[in-house]
Amino acid sequence: MKLNGVVAALVFAIMAGPALAHDLPGLVGDEAVLDDDEKATLEQIDAEEAEISALLAKGASTVGLEGIMDSALVWRKDVLTACFFAGSAQSARNAIAGVAADWTTGTRLSFDFGPEGNRRQCDPAHPSDIRIAFKGGNEGGEWSRVGAEAKLVKNTAPTMNFEGLDQIATASESQRGTILHEFGHAIGFKHEHQSIAADCDKQFNWDYLYTQLGWTKKVVDHNMAKLSLATTKTLIATPFDRQSIMLYSLNRGAFLDPDHASCYIPRQTTRISAVDRALAQQLYAIADGNIPDGAPPEPNLELLAPLNKIAGILGE
Ligand SMILES: [Zn+2]
Repeated sequence: MKLNGVVAALVFAIMAGPALAHDLPGLVGDEAVLDDDEKATLEQIDAEEAEISALLAKGASTVGLEGIMDSALVWRKDVLTACFFAGSAQSARNAIAGVAADWTTGTRLSFDFGPEGNRRQCDPAHPSDIRIAFKGGNEGGEWSRVGAEAKLVKNTAPTMNFEGLDQIATASESQRGTILHEFGHAIGFKHEHQSIAADCDKQFNWDYLYTQLGWTKKVVDHNMAKLSLATTKTLIATPFDRQSIMLYSLNRGAFLDPDHASCYIPRQTTRISAVDRALAQQLYAIADGNIPDGAPPEPNLELLAPLNKIAGILGE
């Protein structure tokens, strides 16, 4: 039987499941085009985000909070060991370790990179959970395995890659964003623009994505297409979070109508959003037995209110 392109893509989507998240080498945005309306919108969203942060600071329950995360890929352990491939400077290893640790705030998780000044070198005989390489070429760019799926990777191979970061002394703001994004994948986060709660796929200019990102169609589909509840029953997702570290900032050309595209952000986020953090804290809750199994729990209405306001601001 011959499969046409559409059917083949569908089969791929079903068969592939969660896998390598391959990110843009140097995420791009057009900050210069940020107009007054967009600035005002971003400020409104920032205000709602601040409210979410305040509620969380007061101890609001994060049960049922949204985001894009596959609960099947949550690590069932508290300490994730991490190592770096040979040739990378201790300063670079230290910079990455320092940035990544931000994800663990308020969670049961910690990353063990080895002591400062002697960050762990990868050793196939004693494989770490997260193995960081700095490759260029075909395997280069910025990418990570998603969550505990890293366990499927052979001991000699990396689970994460940061091309060009192997000798940095400290992380720049944009490098910080990259590191946080990849470590978001490493603990199980998926791309926000692939949210089942968003319609980014309808806003994208697919011709642009297929021709301008420098990826094969397969990689474009895997990293850009809307996730499907039918094939990912363990996905936890609801309102779209425009501030998520897991949302790409793409050029305006990547959208059919960038002025009205809720998925278009003119600058790359470099910090973990309030929702990102709350979701990490939910799925890696300090108390035992809080890992959602099967259907997501009832949402927390207090936190949903500002989230829904953000959705309203975005016209969703
Ligand atoms: Zn990514």
